[in-house]
Amino acid sequence: MAVRAGREFLAIPGPTNMPDAVLQAMHRPALDIYSKEMFELTDSLLRDLSRLFATKGKSYIYIANGHGAWEAVISNVLSRGDKVLVLESGRFAVGWGNAAAAMGADVEVLKGDWRRAVRPAEVEARLREDKEHKIKAIMVVQIDTASGAVNDIEAIGKAIKAADHPALYMVDTVASLGCMPFQMDAWGIDVAMSGSQKGLMTPPGLSFVAMNDRAREVHKTAGMRTPYWDWTERDGSEHYSKYAGTAPVHLLFALRQAIDMLFQEKLENAFLRHHLLGEAVRRAVGVWAEGQVLGFNITEASERSDTVTTVVMSNGHDPVALQTYCKEKCGVVLGTGIGELRGQAFRIAHMGHVNAPMILGTLGVIEVGLQALNIPHGKGGTEAAINWLGESVHA
Ligand SMILES: *Cc1c(COP(=O)(O)O)cnc(C)c1O
Repeated sequence: MAVRAGREFLAIPGPTNMPDAVLQAMHRPALDIYSKEMFELTDSLLRDLSRLFATKGKSYIYIANGHGAWEAVISNVLSRGDKVLVLESGRFAVGWGNAAAAMGADVEVLKGDWRRAVRPAEVEARLREDKEHKIKAIMVVQIDTASGAVNDIEAIGKAIKAADHPALYMVDTVASLGCMPFQMDAWGIDVAMSGSQKGLMTPPGLSFVAMNDRAREVHKTAGMRTPYWDWTERDGSEHYSKYAGTAPVHLLFALRQAIDMLFQEKLENAFLRHHLLGEAVRRAVGVWAEGQVLGFNITEASERSDTVTTVVMSNGHDPVALQTYCKEKCGVVLGTGIGELRGQAFRIAHMGHVNAPMILGTLGVIEVGLQALNIPHGKGGTEAAINWLGESVHA
């Protein structure tokens, strides 16, 4: 017995649900990679990526996932032995730091924990201790997709300024670009990176890096540079060098369509949509939590992100059983708990191409699963989400 048929709905934090128009944009022959149309496509995307990052600096497109862009950033600005400070708020900044360590950097993790965001005051205190300015770069994520925390990137930027520390400020926006405000130049960020398959509604396989003049200066003497990632190589006059080889033509068609859709909606509207739908999810989880089994992973309400909600389960209840029910019986795929939260949490993604029916449908299906599996929960979670949207989305 099941009530699933047709399209399965992915409520996982990447790859995310893609608009039909993005899928259709790829359904055409490749371009001659030496044609004017190809050059124009690349130029338009590089310009618009810098607009998404809100920087006057340059952007680069890599044929790689987010892990590739991490490596691109590291190799372009670091030398072996350079000290890097990683700001922990879950899994991903630490993962970026691990890559840097494997490449020869001296990585220090500013201990955080999986249930809260980075504290800017702790960053400032650590930087003030570094009187000799041994720390060359700071790594942090805007949203940690494992814990569900959102970091205050602007406030951390101010903390770095307050400590008067010259380290490069480097931010991972894989789970946030296009979904919430990000102001690379205004917030004092030197290098930012992102990926195609989350908020940007595009297939996995592309990632992006933007950098400013300060990063460019450091790049000149960076010792970890390799040909594929190297910014200087990619600045070469030939279009071919912009991708260090053949352009990923179809992924670029998809990305062009996705960014066009975002700009058509207007970024502020997309951010507000994410906030409204994210809050709808939080309203539902807040009610379910009354049953003493489910709860928010992130303890401070203000540190819960607008793109993914990590829900912990306790008292011997298994999130995997709920995930299996939602998928097999109702066709909704929830995100699994990862890292420290494996087997203890599930995740509801609300990033990218999401709207009210998708989110209310997902919440409704979770509630069906909670009931079918006899998992204690407060009644009326989906109704609370409906009430929130009814109050907030005005006629
Ligand atoms: C998904 C994700 C990554 C890793 O991206 P991949 O494309 O899976 O390599 C890095 N950082 C954050 C914040 C992410 O959400």
